[in-house]
Amino acid sequence: MKIIVPVKRVVDYNVKVRVKSDQSAVDIANVKMSMNPFDEIAIEEAVRLREKGVATEVIAVSCGLANCQETLRTAMAIGADRGILVETDVELQPLAVAKLLKAVLDKEQPQLVILGKQAIDDDANQTGQMLAALAGLAQAAFASKVEVADGKATVTREIDGGLETLAVKLPAVITADLRLNEPRYVTLPNIMKAKKKQLDVLKPADLGVDVAPRLKTVKVTPPPARKAGIKVADVATLVDKLRNEAKVI
Ligand code: AMP
Repeated sequence: MKIIVPVKRVVDYNVKVRVKSDQSAVDIANVKMSMNPFDEIAIEEAVRLREKGVATEVIAVSCGLANCQETLRTAMAIGADRGILVETDVELQPLAVAKLLKAVLDKEQPQLVILGKQAIDDDANQTGQMLAALAGLAQAAFASKVEVADGKATVTREIDGGLETLAVKLPAVITADLRLNEPRYVTLPNIMKAKKKQLDVLKPADLGVDVAPRLKTVKVTPPPARKAGIKVADVATLVDKLRNEAKVI
């Protein structure tokens, strides 16, 4: 059984991003980029399924600039068997990524696709759902536990106030939530091994996909700066301020 894991190169989660002065976007010039954290969890889950003998091959796929190859090498260092880069300079939106991934699915015919539940840069939470719809596959989003047996995946999902367990017929699309697993550390020997693994590069035109943007970002605004705090003399003053100034009690 083949598993495909789409991995996105995003601004590292430790970076405090700045909004460009013209408010058109976040400034990503010279900032550290890494694999989207939910995609690391997705890769880890796929690799564990291969280690358990449930899957035979894990393929990482990234869409974007040439340097997404670094992200694919990281996925291969975690344990993916090979990588596919769909290379383009066009700024990709979730619908375009979903169409590219659908074309890759048509070629590779995997039984399972595990995506991150959302990319931490656009926070879109759309690609997995769109891909499932375009490919006509069952989907289980926000997985916190996955078991695969007898042609189906049993997926536990975290929902408001509890858990829901779904059985989806394979082939299916799953998106990984934070508590699905804790990804392993990437070791130096595995980074070296990953350099030798197969990495194919395609263009959107090879897949017959038009990736032109359909959405325009109108404005990006940073959160308001936090005001400095004050020290109060005693509890009575604190209660007075909470009641009469902040009006929260
Ligand atoms: P989003 O819908 O943008 O929040 O992204 C959800 C998931 O889709 C990510 O966690 C990735 O697994 C996948 N994805 C989104 N964009 C890309 C991309 N450019 N290349 C590969 N995978 C992507």
